[in-house]
Amino acid sequence: MIIHMVEGSSEIEADRVVERIKSDYGLFCESIVGTGSIVIGVKGIAGVIDEGRISELPGVDRVIRITEKFKDASRSFHPEDTIIDLGDLKIGGKNLTIVGGPCAIESEKQAIDSARLARDAGVDVIRTFVDKSRTSPYDYRGLEIEKGLEIAAAMRKETGLPIVSELIDLRHLEAFLKAGVDIIQVGARSAQYSPLLEELSLLNVPVILKHGMGNDLNEWLCSAAYIMSGLDRLGRPSHRGNPNVILCYRGIRAFESATRFSADISMIPLVRMKSHLPLLADPSHSSGDKKLVERVAYGFVAAGAGGLEFDIHSNPEEALCDGSQAVTDEAERIVSTSREIHALLHNYGMETGKSTELTSSISS
Ligand code: PEP
Ligand code: MN
Repeated sequence: MIIHMVEGSSEIEADRVVERIKSDYGLFCESIVGTGSIVIGVKGIAGVIDEGRISELPGVDRVIRITEKFKDASRSFHPEDTIIDLGDLKIGGKNLTIVGGPCAIESEKQAIDSARLARDAGVDVIRTFVDKSRTSPYDYRGLEIEKGLEIAAAMRKETGLPIVSELIDLRHLEAFLKAGVDIIQVGARSAQYSPLLEELSLLNVPVILKHGMGNDLNEWLCSAAYIMSGLDRLGRPSHRGNPNVILCYRGIRAFESATRFSADISMIPLVRMKSHLPLLADPSHSSGDKKLVERVAYGFVAAGAGGLEFDIHSNPEEALCDGSQAVTDEAERIVSTSREIHALLHNYGMETGKSTELTSSISS
């Protein structure tokens, strides 16, 4: 449910509505103060709310029920782009955020060399993947966790940049946070594993969420809502949830097998239309081929992605994981040209999801 306050109503009136909903129904609210108007989003299951009583409160203009199953992630619930602050870095909205680094940490030398290459190319966040979920158990699955995290921390120190690492096993969460992992990634293979998503909802740490290789848009955004909603298993509001979700599009399994996965460029503007969350796209894991990565990256940015995540490796020929889709010296040009394309969109006022026409997809 969202509550539009009348234009010019005060924040005090909005606070009274928020208090009323909390005291009468035990639900949390999120207020979005725009220019001249305030919109209140009710978190949790708002079916219990008596719409009539809320409509009569001073300053309330209209009450709208949201039927989308991914409410917290939906733009109808939260019309403004979400911008996540990570130190000096701002992710979402008009910003272009580039994440790069090796697919996996293999050794200290390989990791530091690759991190330097990524930093010098101009990325904003370094990939420091310690634990790898691989299709086959016989493939390289990463170093021993403690050793891997030690190297991840060294990559952070060496570059001075924030780091992202994929969390597969909840038992490693504490060690990840202790090692200074700035962003936790949920990979395609765990994208619908609700115990992991629920645990991440208790934190404030930003989460990059991939979609499962067979997931559609609704399922993906529902996974985001698991991290954001703060509802317990019985549907009770138990905490505020984690609002710091960053989506990352990586393509799905489809009929075509010539590319690793099938990435649908039209998903980029569509997701930005449907969701206020920052949206990255991954040209490495979608195309699976370093010869394709650069052009696919530009396609994603031109379509309106708010950033990229791709594999950068100092010596891909020797890589133990995904060397065929990692770039080296091309990384710098990919970063700088992506920023130029993004700046071009900025000139047309098209760099944010807000610029995408909202259509009848908003339900009430
Ligand atoms: C990755 O980013 O390293 C990865 C394995 O990607 P995905 O989860 O999209 O397959
Ligand atoms: Mn990979």
